[in-house]
Amino acid sequence: MESGSTPDFTKGIPVDDLQNGGMIQGRVSDEDVILARHADEFFAVGAGCTHYHGPLAEGLIVGDELRCPLHHACFSLRTGMALCAPAFDAIHRWRVERVADRVFVREKLPALAQWPEANTRRPPNSPSSVVIVGGGAAGLAAADMLRRKGYDGPVTVISADDSAPYDRPNVSKDYLQEPIPDEWMNLRVPDFYKEQGIELVLNSRVSSIDPRQKQVRLENGGTYNFGALLLATGADVVKLPIPGARDSDAFYVRTWSDARVIFKRAATAKQVVVVGSSFIGLEVAASLRSRGLDVHVVGREDQPFERALGPEVGQFFRALHESHGVICHMGKTVTGMDGDGAVLNDGTKLRADFLVLGVGVRPAVALAEQAGLKIDRGVVVNEYLETSAPGIFAAGDIARWPDPHSGQQIRVEHWVVAERQGQVAARNILGHRERYEAVPFFWTQQFGVALKYVGHAEKWDAVEIDGNLDAKNCAVSYKQGGKTVAVATIGRDFQSLQIEAGMEASLRKLTRATHR
Ligand SMILES: Cc1cc2nc3c(=O)[nH]c(=O)nc-3n(C[C@H](O)[C@H](O)[C@H](O)COP(=O)(O)OP(=O)(O)OC[C@H]3O[C@@H](n4cnc5c(N)ncnc54)[C@H](O)[C@@H]3O)c2cc1C
Repeated sequence: MESGSTPDFTKGIPVDDLQNGGMIQGRVSDEDVILARHADEFFAVGAGCTHYHGPLAEGLIVGDELRCPLHHACFSLRTGMALCAPAFDAIHRWRVERVADRVFVREKLPALAQWPEANTRRPPNSPSSVVIVGGGAAGLAAADMLRRKGYDGPVTVISADDSAPYDRPNVSKDYLQEPIPDEWMNLRVPDFYKEQGIELVLNSRVSSIDPRQKQVRLENGGTYNFGALLLATGADVVKLPIPGARDSDAFYVRTWSDARVIFKRAATAKQVVVVGSSFIGLEVAASLRSRGLDVHVVGREDQPFERALGPEVGQFFRALHESHGVICHMGKTVTGMDGDGAVLNDGTKLRADFLVLGVGVRPAVALAEQAGLKIDRGVVVNEYLETSAPGIFAAGDIARWPDPHSGQQIRVEHWVVAERQGQVAARNILGHRERYEAVPFFWTQQFGVALKYVGHAEKWDAVEIDGNLDAKNCAVSYKQGGKTVAVATIGRDFQSLQIEAGMEASLRKLTRATHR
């Protein structure tokens, strides 16, 4: 390697500069390229993740896969294909040649839009058509996967939303902070749906499903027949009645439209009260505070996120918010609005131009219930994400699935989980019979501090902190009966990837042992 400068891979590098599982960033012409090694094979791929342009050279190689440190997107080193959400598009790749003890990167290879086998092998099962109810994370990921796997039958995505699938996590983050172009919010360019032959039916709510006739009915009376159905209806916000508040005083945050309204309203406001101290509430608080508003957060817990992440992490985020001037009123609720302010249960009155309510969501299971599907605090699915009705799958915030890592039936509200479930459900719709085994992952970002979380801990009996929360450099392990069930990291993205890979390896070991 040329010391002190980025290597020019066209000139070759010594084979021994790269160990198995290692990678080096360099360049080919004016492009940033990663040269990676898996056993005795070498691969050259683009250095930027196609999701949020994360630095892939800071990621992790697992077998012949490359994982992004930002949101754990996963790419094939062989084909460049995006194997797992949140990325959908392939990274570039280059031909690599080994000559004696040097490795050279040659010409760029054409990017793949479909799985290589999709052109030559029809999916094992091709339903006459696929209808997807829900145009969010899981719905889009499923439609995209059906096409990338070579399914050429009709695909219809029906969405109650007024926008094509968009980056919902941004609704409470960047989008509330500054004007950002629509391209940043759209998950796919507008032409994608036409090019892929995906019928996108917006502003349309499905009102009933007839599993026997294999038909969905829309509120407007329209009907769609389906060969296979995916339910991906997400979650509905919990409404909190605020006596004295007009509709124009209190806003919820679920959709891009919600964010547009709040963004506009914030432009002329001075003070806002955020009700709810979990992820959405605090992300909104951080975003509006960064626009210069006076922000008060009212939360029932003693510390923000206490239920999900425990008091230590909660205290850290509270201090972070307070250091930016957010005023937290913990252990309190809002009981009403009185003139120009919110009244708390202890009688405190907080002046507020408007309220933002983030007090939780409920899985949107009404349709599934009406269709007679098995429900248990969510739509119950098996390991293949199939509901109690054959041919009807469910994914995302509504699905309660048997999580092999925790050994429990769980339901989570995480972006990447919803997308990956959509992808697995799509492959199973095509007859792949693939178990959903991904380690749950989520992230939150507030005042520039990102927390990454892998695993799932509904409860724990011990918390171990490696590193220092205040230094924003730590891994917080949640343990139950001596076993680490989840780990939250701050400032340790690489470790988060390693922990995820470790959990996958433990599962593989367990599966092998039980099948022996
Ligand atoms: C503001 C905000 C910020 C978030 N930030 C993060 C984050 O940083 N990290 C993270 O991991 N997770 C985050 N999440 C959670 C994440 O967005 C969700 O877990 C994810 O969107 C769930 O995907 P889904 O496909 O199940 O549902 P959704 O993405 O909610 O999509 C549901 C779709 O179903 C449609 N629909 C519902 N009912 C019907 C019907 N009857 N007929 C037709 N269409 C219907 C809706 O219109 C919508 O299009 C955030 C959520 C919100 C609201």
